[in-house]
Amino acid sequence: MITFPPHLEIHDDRFAEMVHPMSTLDMIADGFTWTEGPVWFGDHNCLLFSDIPSQRIMRWSESDGVSVFRAASGFNNGNTRDRQGRLVGCRHGKRDVVRTEHDGSLTVLADGYEGKPLNSPNDVVVSSDGAVWFTDPTYGRISNFEGYRKAPEQPCRNVFRLSPEGDLRVVVSDFSQPNGLCFSPDEKTLYIAESGSSHDDAVPSVIRRFAVEDGTLHEQEPLAEIDNGLPDGMRCDVLGNLWSSAADGVHCFDRNGTMLGKILVPQVVSNLCFGGSDGQRMYITATRAVYRVFVDVQGAEPWSRPRA
Ligand code: MG
Repeated sequence: MITFPPHLEIHDDRFAEMVHPMSTLDMIADGFTWTEGPVWFGDHNCLLFSDIPSQRIMRWSESDGVSVFRAASGFNNGNTRDRQGRLVGCRHGKRDVVRTEHDGSLTVLADGYEGKPLNSPNDVVVSSDGAVWFTDPTYGRISNFEGYRKAPEQPCRNVFRLSPEGDLRVVVSDFSQPNGLCFSPDEKTLYIAESGSSHDDAVPSVIRRFAVEDGTLHEQEPLAEIDNGLPDGMRCDVLGNLWSSAADGVHCFDRNGTMLGKILVPQVVSNLCFGGSDGQRMYITATRAVYRVFVDVQGAEPWSRPRA
């Protein structure tokens, strides 16, 4: 019988195939306040991630370690890239979604809806047609920890789609707190985390599942319920498995919602991404630190895989 290290909890043989009994869970960066928004830049062989309360986006690489990529980040939270490779992030203090151009300049993509400011954009994905999908919970408004408590002007905590033509539309409006979101590899399904149990025990900690059709969403049964904490950031692998953050680590579900296994992490996990020079590492943002672990499966996002 194969013995796996204690950070790997095997629920299904398919998970055992995607990890390794000799793998270690390595802390690669520490000393932050709340890490989030990991995104791999294979073209620069580095990871970017947010430290939200310190208003910084950090850069990590194997050769150079940790440095500040951007200070005064506007409490930048979730990050992704578009198909042109540009960084797209949610600034939950500045209450907008912003794109970093190749020359380093910033373009605000969305900062209001129906004449009122957004709540506090949290996480974002860009579909291959160039549409920007993001969640707008109120986490950036409900505490003075980061110095900006304010009653939200929006009546709902929406999920938005910004079309390539610039048309901003609500695609779901009935979340308690929408949080991380992630497309299946074929982009026919969008998964969105409901993290409202952070402030309301009556809200189930589920990953909601929507069929995507012509830029609109049709709700299906939830993919899964998180059994420890709540779901925040998520990513899919090329096989269509969904890897979700949770309080005790990263939970891996197949496309039908069957729990395949967990990567147990000693701090509460906010988000994760695939990457590494071989495309076979997972980077996990967890409270004060960033961890890395080997996974024998590649991420669905093209920039997380080595170029052919
Ligand atoms: Mg989030």
